[in-house]
Amino acid sequence: MFYKSTRSQENANATAAQVIKQGLAADGGLFVPESIPTLTLGEISELCKDAYPIRAAKILSKFLDDYTYEELLADCSEAYAESSFVGGSAPLVKVFDNVYSMELWHGPTAAFKDMALQIMPRLLSRALVKTGEDRTALILVATSGDTGKAALEGYRDVPRVKIMVFYPVDGVSHVQKLQMASQTGNNVNVCAIRGNFDDAQNGVKEIFGNDAMSQTLDENGFFFSSANSINWGRLAPQIVYYVSAYCDLIASGACKLGECFNVCVPTGNFGNIFAGFLAKQMGLPIGKFVCASNANNILTDFLRTGVYDRNRDFYLTMSPSMDILISSNLERLLYFVAGSEKTAMWMKSLKETGKYGIDAETLAKIQENFVGCFADETATAATIRSVYTENGYLIDPHTAVAMYSAKDYIQSSDDTRPMVVDSTASPYKFANNVYRAITQKEPSSDIGALVELSELTNTEIPYPLADLEKRKINFNTVIDRRDMANAVLEYLNIR
Ligand SMILES: *Cc1c(COP(=O)(O)O)cnc(C)c1O
Repeated sequence: MFYKSTRSQENANATAAQVIKQGLAADGGLFVPESIPTLTLGEISELCKDAYPIRAAKILSKFLDDYTYEELLADCSEAYAESSFVGGSAPLVKVFDNVYSMELWHGPTAAFKDMALQIMPRLLSRALVKTGEDRTALILVATSGDTGKAALEGYRDVPRVKIMVFYPVDGVSHVQKLQMASQTGNNVNVCAIRGNFDDAQNGVKEIFGNDAMSQTLDENGFFFSSANSINWGRLAPQIVYYVSAYCDLIASGACKLGECFNVCVPTGNFGNIFAGFLAKQMGLPIGKFVCASNANNILTDFLRTGVYDRNRDFYLTMSPSMDILISSNLERLLYFVAGSEKTAMWMKSLKETGKYGIDAETLAKIQENFVGCFADETATAATIRSVYTENGYLIDPHTAVAMYSAKDYIQSSDDTRPMVVDSTASPYKFANNVYRAITQKEPSSDIGALVELSELTNTEIPYPLADLEKRKINFNTVIDRRDMANAVLEYLNIR
């Protein structure tokens, strides 16, 4: 299986190990597989008997065929160990009627990013060997909160890798900030920037695209790699849990083998939902994808009108991991629906004017699969409250955005297929806002909210968040966006 760029018409010639190592394609596009492997109903039926790590190894081996099945199984078994994902890797919980929550946040940082970032460092380590690389990888990450911590945990103390994380200083929750600032490990660095997530992401993309900078790194024995969801190594592992959810629906009797289910995904960079789309292209019986946005509803508008326009107000919301105006992985969907020529043209227009409009045919193809819905702040808070009081189920603001959108879709359509809502963060990661939404009262403090929420709802604080306020702060630097490149050189001790 070979990979190519979304923006190039050339034949695919990069291996999975190469694309995982490299991150972004040389022309600025994203790597995509040359074809999509199939998953038959017979195979799905077999996967239903397997534990999560085996499901993961079998599906990954279809895309990463330069890794042996034994290598993948060893990595998946470690990544998805029960000691790490306490309570299961992606358990499905019935919330009401035929709406289910797929809890993707049982890992070591309490957010769904762990599903990919516990396995990806292992894939990168192997990729360095497979490609004969002798330099050290420098992972640069722009984060709206969850990726940063999950990447730091995943790459911590991994040999021949260093990691540097940039986050918007006022764009992440207090808990997220504490999680990152208290990071340990001998190969990690964390830096806040003045700006929003898009500033951080653009800054990282510019550093990646800066040839002089790459050369300087090379001369000093380093090369850039990425852990953002633009990296194929992030996306591939996310395909697995859609298959896993289907197995669980079958086991519970909600679906018969071959019957479709729908999926609703709280969406930011479009990685999670796109992984679901790939699962469907492989053969998994998924009907509709509800793409859920918060007040930054650029994707809702795009899916309804075909016009993507980032020239609009940007809001900081209580679901910060979705406060995004450039949804990078949408490029991969455009590529699969419309091809590389049009994709390259639209991405150029986005870069130059902040805007592009797709043709009617492409829009129609996208709308066969995707519906856009959004929840503003009031609807998000009301949903946290109602799902807790009516269904006894506690959800975080990102999951609430999706839960509201799922209900909105179900009410406005006659689609009665089972709906799986991706639950992407533990409610405790956003305990202050969750507490406020349920009680309509202020918690004593952002950190005090964890204990107060636990006492109020009689649920446990997950292990990764249990002793946060006692941890030592190791990183507190704040810099301007234009100083990001210098900060990188300084971290590597390059003059
Ligand atoms: C990253 C994240 C999202 C958005 O996922 P994308 O793959 O970027 O669309 C949603 N919710 C939470 C909690 C996240 O951390």
